[in-house]
Amino acid sequence: MINIEQHKSKILAAHFASTMKTSSSPEDLEFFIRSHRAESQPLKQWWDDMEALRVIRYAENQWNIHPPETDPNPNSVGKVSMGIDEVVIFANKKIGKVYNYYRTVLPQEMQIKIAYDSLIERFMGFLQRGKCAILLFENDLALQIFIPFTDLNAEFDLSFEWNEFIKFAYSETELYKSFTLLVNSLELTNRGFGYVRFPPATIDMTYWLAAFYIATLRERVLRNTDNYKNANDAFRKARDNVKKCQDQLNTNSLTERRRTSIEVKLYDENQKLNDAMQDRRSALRMNQKVFDRIISGLRNQTNTSDFDHAKRLSYQFNRTGAMQFSYGTVKLKSQGGKSSIEDTIVEILNATITPLSCPFVLIDDMVDNSVCKAGDDAKNRCYSCGRPLPTKEKHQQANRFVLGDPSQRLQSGGSQKQPDVCGECLTIAFACSVKLTSGSIVLQLATDDQIDRSFSIENHLRMLTLGELNLVAGRYLLINCQEYVGSGNERKLVSEKIGQIQYTLWRVACIFPATALQTMKFSLFVGGTRIRVESRHFVWLSILNEIFSPNLVVGQRDNIPLGQAIRLIQKDEVISAIYKLVTAEFPQVIPIHNQSYSEKQSLEELREKHCELLEKSSNGDKLMSKQAEFYRDVAALTGLTYAYCDYLRGELRKKPDIDTVREVKKLIEKVVNPSFFNYEASDVLPGTRATMYRNPDNYFCYDQAKLLLENTLNVEMSARAKPDEKGPQPLAIYFDDILNAYAKLSEKYNKTQRRKLSYQLKLNLYAKFASLFSQKEINQNGN
Ligand SMILES: [Zn+2]
Repeated sequence: MINIEQHKSKILAAHFASTMKTSSSPEDLEFFIRSHRAESQPLKQWWDDMEALRVIRYAENQWNIHPPETDPNPNSVGKVSMGIDEVVIFANKKIGKVYNYYRTVLPQEMQIKIAYDSLIERFMGFLQRGKCAILLFENDLALQIFIPFTDLNAEFDLSFEWNEFIKFAYSETELYKSFTLLVNSLELTNRGFGYVRFPPATIDMTYWLAAFYIATLRERVLRNTDNYKNANDAFRKARDNVKKCQDQLNTNSLTERRRTSIEVKLYDENQKLNDAMQDRRSALRMNQKVFDRIISGLRNQTNTSDFDHAKRLSYQFNRTGAMQFSYGTVKLKSQGGKSSIEDTIVEILNATITPLSCPFVLIDDMVDNSVCKAGDDAKNRCYSCGRPLPTKEKHQQANRFVLGDPSQRLQSGGSQKQPDVCGECLTIAFACSVKLTSGSIVLQLATDDQIDRSFSIENHLRMLTLGELNLVAGRYLLINCQEYVGSGNERKLVSEKIGQIQYTLWRVACIFPATALQTMKFSLFVGGTRIRVESRHFVWLSILNEIFSPNLVVGQRDNIPLGQAIRLIQKDEVISAIYKLVTAEFPQVIPIHNQSYSEKQSLEELREKHCELLEKSSNGDKLMSKQAEFYRDVAALTGLTYAYCDYLRGELRKKPDIDTVREVKKLIEKVVNPSFFNYEASDVLPGTRATMYRNPDNYFCYDQAKLLLENTLNVEMSARAKPDEKGPQPLAIYFDDILNAYAKLSEKYNKTQRRKLSYQLKLNLYAKFASLFSQKEINQNGN
């Protein structure tokens, strides 16, 4: 028995969302809302997942019109209790029921597991939206949901809802998103796959499947014929020759005679190009007639309206989609072979619809062997889910849609035979847009358990990735690289060049805002391997992206400083990563100028986030919290020395004959030794006291410097921080402070750490003065 009181907020949120659908202001709602102001964020999130917008508006209004101090105590809201048969009672009324379900299918192989998980995830979203259901508990085996009673008082019927959901998930629009976009966006295998047949769960699935084959048929008949291929080869050759001639004409050192001869050749080649274009067009026209003939033959063998609909859908496949099948095994009727594309289309359209069973049952309905173990040790069982296969029919073999690597999966025996899979697994795989193909990475998102379990990632992903090329299935996101470097034979995906994981880190950091990344947990699937990635790395990269807007590809090459910065971030080296990008140039990055106020401020926020997230993720790990402390010390020293560097720059600006930039650089180089630093600075400066003012672009280093003076060096602050005419928050610093600070930190760190400290300090100072250095370069180039 669960502790129902522990889930009170969720249960009542679901209850009120449901009652609000039929009644304008349910009893107790105002009281509940006002007493739960502290939980306004999760409440709004749950209601958002339920698409209960009226409740959200009502709640926001209540919180606005009533001052918080008049709110009732949350404990004064009546108790919820569990009656007979898991019925939940609140204010003497039966408000809903808790259902415990067990999963009947537990696939082990990653890709099919993702397909099942994401479909269940989408089903939960469907129940949230339609029934105001709320998830109370979930693990790999079981799930527990609360479903409020509607006024109709109709009992919740899982199999009815599941069938309704299947109609939705396997509808024309949903399948377009999960199936069509997938085959259009990436090559599923590099050799092409053989015939695939999926038992259709809906008529729309039948249409899409037939349409897929019709698109393939069209591609083959129109373009995979000798007449078209010859014309196309001639076209390409002529196009290349025209380009070559044009390039030659563009070179300067041409004699008049040579120029004339090239011009004559160009004329010829243009002629050939026109002819080839004509030939290609007439080949297409001719082939189109052949295609139309085949099509009308097929139309006569099927229900014509079904056929016409499938044909209309077939235009939604692009050439990547239409070229997914193997040219060697999947053939036209005229090319012979056991089966043909044409026969397959007719078979698909004439096949009966097979309902898809629900992959979980109520605990009471569970029979002993209803959970099957997957694997290849059992004969006549589905390889991916373990269910028994029908004995009479011919078994279907796994393909790329179902398993990530179907040919090498059998552990017993050395054969390359592909394992048998059941129809249900095939159908489930059909509606999952996330596949573990080479060249793409799958990312799994989860929320921080402590914060909130039920936060719907699915909604979040749908919102954020709108318009992106990435495919989403439940809480899984398929990241598919589309950017290339190099040209001709050297052309390859930028993800191969900079590293798949690095590419994914970067893409995700660009898709999501830093605030959203902070509360999520991430796993990557590369091949069959799961890799945990730290959300702090995404957060830091996301801020770097906001500041520098780097281009991933610059002039057909990968952006080297960016690649280095990503790898540094993976090692938690934020200061070094900043330095890499601050010293990069346009168009690798948008450089920081003197006027880049918001960028400088974001840089300072990044320095702070660096320490903050190291601390947060240390979770008792001493080494990591020490690291955070180390970087706070770097920031403190940066504050102290920056004050002098800035003072020096101010003084030197008054003297036009001195190279300010060079002098500042010289001083920064001296930070390895405090005596040298002081000596160098005192040589130029009229006074010994530098003053730092707290600004948005240096607040973190300022605060850390102040803390160091106050807590570690025991400096009396009242005299140091008196507001003056230049600003409200000054901090006076003396040469002795620098000597003392270094001395204190030397005791704390060993030699290697000290060396790292002064190196990081130097990088920090260079980054702080980056605008000065880039400005100088601009001036130099101008002169
Ligand atoms: Zn199966």
